[in-house]
Amino acid sequence: MSTVDFSVDTSKPVLVTGATGYVAGWVVKRLLEAGATVHAPVRDPDNAAKVGHLIELANASAGEIKLFKADLLTDGSYDDAMRGCGVVFHTASPFTVNVKDAQKELIDPAKLGTRNVLEAANRTETVTRVVLTSSCAAIYTDAKDTHDGPNGRIDESVWNTSASLHYQPYSYSKTVAEQEAWTIAKAQARWKLVVVNPSLVLGPAVNGAPTSESFNIMRQLGDGSMKSGAPRYSFGAVDVRDLAQAHLAAAFVPDAEGRHIVSAHSTDLLELGLTLQAKYGADYPLPKRALPKWLVWLVGPMVGLPRKTVSRSVGEPWRADNSKGIKALGLTYRPLKVSLEDMFAQMVDTGAFKRV
Ligand code: NAP
Repeated sequence: MSTVDFSVDTSKPVLVTGATGYVAGWVVKRLLEAGATVHAPVRDPDNAAKVGHLIELANASAGEIKLFKADLLTDGSYDDAMRGCGVVFHTASPFTVNVKDAQKELIDPAKLGTRNVLEAANRTETVTRVVLTSSCAAIYTDAKDTHDGPNGRIDESVWNTSASLHYQPYSYSKTVAEQEAWTIAKAQARWKLVVVNPSLVLGPAVNGAPTSESFNIMRQLGDGSMKSGAPRYSFGAVDVRDLAQAHLAAAFVPDAEGRHIVSAHSTDLLELGLTLQAKYGADYPLPKRALPKWLVWLVGPMVGLPRKTVSRSVGEPWRADNSKGIKALGLTYRPLKVSLEDMFAQMVDTGAFKRV
């Protein structure tokens, strides 16, 4: 739901990169429901497991979907799909923290992929707006960084200066990709760049087998990995359906401009577990108590959590100013409990967890 009036322009097709993904799934669903023709360049348009749900969504709605083959790392591969499109949603970018070669697996597809898609926009006369799915990760790395923002919290004026190839490379990939997008956007005048910067995305998926890191985090809450306790690791969170609405508003609110923090709640890992207790605590090994910070500091590196991250993100409140998105895009946010319960229910249905 939006409190700012806008309508989806269905007069031209729209392009969505990464349509097979978790976030893009809801964006595509909403566009199709509004009657849009969606051009979906994907890595493998013949992979039914990846694209079957998109075709089903189109069959059940007023809109239409056309699949194309493209890869972020193949120059020019978005040109065919972009032909005739008015709006480009660039969501594709790897979201994973388990990588062997961060340059190849995260930074190249994020940065070179953004350049590839936006250079195609430069060649496509019909494009008037590009909506980039960036991240709050392009604004901060650790919760403690948020305290250095204006008035002790991050806003859209802040850029991530602490992530690097060697420290939190996913955050670095999102930072350099968004910076690349602004450089390309500012060098031309035909299309406007509007950026959404979501915090951790939660809620159910429309794609059957989501691989987004959002699901790995949720899996660890419900599979017993944290049954003896969860760290008070702080971050922001937003529902994937509210984020889809933010993408549509970023595309079709005439005056939308610049970056937008899209985040509903300041929370932490333990709070996610506790929020699920009422409905699922009796059947699933959810965390009930906080792991002491000294213990997380001690064992963190063994589970892939650097000590610097523990020091700067555990027990440090996450603070962000989300007022621009609420005012300029008319965003409203679901309660955290709703996002979590809907997501957990879907994961229970698909066999992600064993009952205790
Ligand atoms: P996801 O489900 O893993 O989606 C990633 C998408 O990127 C998939 O469609 C994937 O295609 C595509 N992709 C990856 N590498 C590609 C390549 N080389 N060529 C073409 N496509 C490629 O993750 P998500 O959570 O939806 O993330 C989508 C966007 O939201 C990303 O930009 C991410 O940084 C951003 N974001 C996510 C969160 C969150 O909490 N989930 C928070 C903030 C921002 P395949 O299906 O072929 O793998």
